[in-house]
Amino acid sequence: MTHRTLPECGREPDEVLDALADFAADDPDYKRGRTWSLVYHLDDAHEDFAARAYRMYSSANGLNPAAFRSLKRLESEIISIEAGLFHGGPETCGVLTSGGTESCLLAVKTYRDMARARRRVRPPNMVLPVTAHVAWFKASDYFGVKVRLLPMTSGHATDIARLKRLIDRNTVMVLGSAPEYPHGTIDPIAEMGAICAARGVPLHVDACVGGFILPFMEMNGVDLPPWDFRVPGVTSISADLHKYGYAAKGASSILYRDLDILKHQMFVYQDWPGGVFASPALLGTRPGGAYAAAWATLQKFGVAGYRELAAQTTEAVEALKEGIARIDGLRLLGRPQGPLLAYGSSDRALSIFAVADQMEKRGWNVNRVQNPDGIHAMVTARHRAVTGEYLADLEQAVATVRADPSLAQTGGAATYGMLAHVPLRGMVKARVLDAFASMYRAGGGDLDLHEPAAPGLAERWMKKYVEWKSRRG
Ligand SMILES: *Cc1c(COP(=O)(O)O)cnc(C)c1O
Repeated sequence: MTHRTLPECGREPDEVLDALADFAADDPDYKRGRTWSLVYHLDDAHEDFAARAYRMYSSANGLNPAAFRSLKRLESEIISIEAGLFHGGPETCGVLTSGGTESCLLAVKTYRDMARARRRVRPPNMVLPVTAHVAWFKASDYFGVKVRLLPMTSGHATDIARLKRLIDRNTVMVLGSAPEYPHGTIDPIAEMGAICAARGVPLHVDACVGGFILPFMEMNGVDLPPWDFRVPGVTSISADLHKYGYAAKGASSILYRDLDILKHQMFVYQDWPGGVFASPALLGTRPGGAYAAAWATLQKFGVAGYRELAAQTTEAVEALKEGIARIDGLRLLGRPQGPLLAYGSSDRALSIFAVADQMEKRGWNVNRVQNPDGIHAMVTARHRAVTGEYLADLEQAVATVRADPSLAQTGGAATYGMLAHVPLRGMVKARVLDAFASMYRAGGGDLDLHEPAAPGLAERWMKKYVEWKSRRG
């Protein structure tokens, strides 16, 4: 039964909730640790706890911080906890956001506007490592700040030697990640900070994924390079509570070294007929439930709880690294030091995307990365129990692909291989846009990018590309 129109009469609440539960039947199986991205799930008990906290504030609105004092208090306490974890000073300040992307977008807006207020910049640019999260490229697009790409070295680390030359007088900010999303490598923040401080350019550290695990790994004795406010050139940090903070979704944060920077993030309109209006972030209505669940989760785990979760995650990550190193034909990409990693093929004859298909056949939900090609794993404490099973399946998956190299030409391997390697990048963009947009028809549709590759697909793509080119003149 589909529900494309509003029911004439309301339905029984239990029936509605049952229907919701049914919808999830084909979703990724994250409760058993089969999903290696998107979800940070511990167990049902924790999920219930966060949901209870959420529900207490699900109608509360953080739009006006003077109205819901409770929410302003939760926000201040969370930011203060983070300032401590990230070694901020007495001037550290910050704002809760709805997610990592909002935090990243805000940093770009803030630094663009700060540069504009202090000097003439035209057109503004920012220096991003190629491994920067895609949210930064979105911010470039939204806010008109040009990207200057900092390439990777042959070891898939950010090439710091190029940084000095990329900064010019129109550079409004530089980005480093702790760690970056594609390979889990922590950028050389100390070196970047020294260069940025000398040039008077702000350095934002994207710790969206690392913010709630790296500090606890460090407390556990893991040797990590410095990446937080202890590095003098670091002017701001973004950190997601809804990743390794294990909060309910809808909670991230951005912290600045001082209020003089944060002021450029804020929006004030004093002449609105609806009243004098001030807003600290992108959203209007701000979800009280998400902030309550985040605060409650921090209180529930405390330092000891997060250290334990970090230790379990580290154990799982190390087991995976060792297991992958033992499988002939695989190699880690970059130098993963945090909770995530990616691995590719060290043997031209072995298609890593075909290995990914085999892993999916065995019930694992994996992500693929490109340039270089690889399989990604965002590892959580929950995964500790399944690494043995995962590695056994990975060994089998590699053997299966080695025995039948034609697997690289079928299924997801063919599609993803094409998407990653077809030199006509404009065509890839247009094709993805078409398929993606069509999912958003009222009534819904399915993404068909994953359709099994038919013979002649490359030719059809080329034809589409030619059509697309001619439409654009
Ligand atoms: C997840 C992530 C983001 C974006 O966060 P969302 O909550 O998914 O919007 C930004 N940067 C990094 C490094 C991330 O891992």
